[in-house]
Parts: sequence; structure tokens; C-alpha cells
Amino acid sequence: GTRSSAQLIRAEAPVVAHNYHPLPVVVARAEGTWVEDVEGRRYLDMLAGYSALNFGHRHPAIVEAAHRQLDEVTLTSRAFHNDRLAGFAERLAELTGLDMVLPMNTGAEAVESAVKVARKWAYEVKGVAPGRATVVVADGNFHGRTTTIVSFSTDEAARAGFGPFTPGFRAVPYNDLAALEAAVDETTAAVLIEPIQGEAGVVIPDEGYLTGVRELTRRLGCLFIADEIQSGLGRTGRTLAVDHESVVPDVLLLGKALGGGIVPVSAVVAHRDVLSVLRPGDHGSTFGGNPLSAAVGSAVLDLLATGEFQRRAAELGDVLDRGLAALTGTGVIAYRARGLWAGVDIDPAIGTGRQISERLLAEGVLVKDTHGSTLRLAPPLTITEEELHTALEALRKVLA
Ligand code: PLP
Repeated sequence: GTRSSAQLIRAEAPVVAHNYHPLPVVVARAEGTWVEDVEGRRYLDMLAGYSALNFGHRHPAIVEAAHRQLDEVTLTSRAFHNDRLAGFAERLAELTGLDMVLPMNTGAEAVESAVKVARKWAYEVKGVAPGRATVVVADGNFHGRTTTIVSFSTDEAARAGFGPFTPGFRAVPYNDLAALEAAVDETTAAVLIEPIQGEAGVVIPDEGYLTGVRELTRRLGCLFIADEIQSGLGRTGRTLAVDHESVVPDVLLLGKALGGGIVPVSAVVAHRDVLSVLRPGDHGSTFGGNPLSAAVGSAVLDLLATGEFQRRAAELGDVLDRGLAALTGTGVIAYRARGLWAGVDIDPAIGTGRQISERLLAEGVLVKDTHGSTLRLAPPLTITEEELHTALEALRKVLA
């Protein structure tokens, strides 16, 4: 374990698949908002594991819950009950206002599971003809990387080379209720959307869109599935992004931060009449709902129940918003922000998103570009106002 950052980066190339193009930093330690590389250089983490680290690195309450559980039992499989799952599901139902939880692991698994549940609901409850169920999605969506999920991606890079694709999906423009209504018909099991499109560059729909989706899906008799895997759990200044319009979907998908930055934990949360379409043998996951995940997830939900992180995201979100407004016109072309989450479009004359990310790395700030010239900012919700100013100042410097 004495190889340098440069040696470790070189060592990865022949043995690790090149499905990512990481920035040239090798993280060896982390705490709170900060990570440290092999040589001991410190960086402010403004990405937070794509929102999997909403509570920062190694939040003491989450680490303690994990340690405690490691000394009891870590994995049972669902062949048996474990003593942590009921408490986790109760907390999740309480926080979301829904009734029932299907525990899974990764975000993509939650999305896949929701598609299966929606299809089964369409056949058993709505009465769609066998094999005909459709799901309506939005252009620019990002829901994960499995074969079925890339089948309804509208990003060619996500699809090219991976066909044949799963049928049964229709994509309509995001933030367009008329197009959505036109796409829903008697075969529609569900409308699946992100309340804010994260990977697309933090694209925020107009006020009223989520309310409209709720009203339309109810009126036309299909499920509303909200993918809050990236937008949920405090990021936007509320527990859920749908809370900004006081909308309750039929099915809510959570992941990323639900695992406290320690283990992959995702969940399909829904009303009991929807999730009740699953019966023994229909669906499963060896690791879903395991006691370690349930203990960590419960610690996360206890933190969220205090409201402190949502409040911080809302208050510091105002600081972030003002900081980005001040940079607009000097290197920043436009930005979209909600809570501690922003998509920042960089003037291409100044550099690509990648180049700006590399310059920020040199300034000790970690961010990641998306779609060429957009930077995504999503710091841990534990970030201080001073640290946020440090990040904004670094951005101002590299754009100057
Ligand atoms: N859904 C949304 C909205 C996401 O942002 C992501 C990941 O970025 C996923 C699903 C997929 O999650 P995972 O990478 O854990 O499979």
C-alpha cells in the first residue's frame, strides 16, 4: 500500500474496465466534506458521490450504526426475517407518507423493480391486455444502466452497442404536460419521471408540472413513479423534490444517500395496494433488506427525521444560488439550482466541463462535468457556509 497516486492511476488501466474517465485524484481517506489523496493533499468534495454522500463522508451516527450492526448480524437473505428490516421500513413509510417498502440495493435495481411492479399492476388491477403494458418516460431521462433502463434512455451514448432493447416504453418531452397526456393510453401502466433531471444537468421543470403529472396520472388511471434516487433525501431543501409541490406519487424510488455513503441501499416505496401485486417468488434480491443495509438506512432516516439537513440545504442553497448568480456573465452562461444542487453551464470559450473540473481539482475542489459543458455541484448537506464560499471562490478563479 505504498504506491503513489500516479502509480495507482497507471496500475488501474490494464485491470479495471474503462467505463469511467475519473479525474486524476486518488482518494485514500475522507471525513465530512473533505477527502484526502494518497499524498495527503486535501480536497473539498463538491460532488458527494453523485448525492450518495448527502450526510458527508463517514457521518458519526451512520458509522456508529454500521459498526454496531457489524457486531450482530450482517446478512440473512430474505429466506429468513431479520430484526432490523421492520424498523427501516416503518421509518421510510413515516418519512414519505407511503405505506410499504420493497428493499433493493442499487438505484437501477429500484427502477427495474418499479417497472416490474407497474407492469404487474397494469395486468392485475388496470386490466391491460397481456404483454401490452407501456411505461411513459421523459426525454433526457437518466434512471441507470441496465439493459431495460438503457432501452428507454434518449442518450445515444448510453444505448449504442447495447441492443436489442426492451420494448414497452414511450419517451415524451420533459416538462410538457400536453405531450405526456397524448402519450398515455389504455396500455399505460405508469409515468416514470425524475422530479428534477439530475444527469441531464439539474433540469428543473416549471412550477405546476409535478402537480400536473399527479393530476393527469390519477385522471387517466396509471401510476406516477417518481425517481428521487438523486433528488431525494434532503438534496433540494426538502425531504423529497416532490415536496416542493406537495405531491405524493404512487411509487417513490430512493437510493444513493439512503445507504449513508457506506452500503448500496435502494427502495421502492408505494401504497400498499400497488406493492401488494408482488407475492412470494415474484421478485427478489439476495442482499435487499439485509440487516447491515437496514441498520445504516435507519440511521440515515433518523438524521432526516430531525429536519436539520433539509433546512441546511434550503438555507445554504440560497448562498449557492447567489454565488452562481454573481458568476453569471463571467464564465457562467446559465445555471439551475435547487437547494444544494446546481447545474452550471460553462462558457465553452473558457473551457470544456472536463477542463474546468481539472482546474478546480488543482484548486482543491472536486466536481464532475456532465454533458460537455455543464458542471454539477452537489456538496454534502453538512457543508459549512465558509466551505461553500471557498468552492465558489475557486470557481470564480478558474473561470477568470
Ligand atoms: N435514477 C437516477 C435519477 C439516478 O440519478 C441514478 C444514478 O445516477 C440512478 C437512477 C441509478 O442509480 P445506480 O447508479 O445506483 O444504479
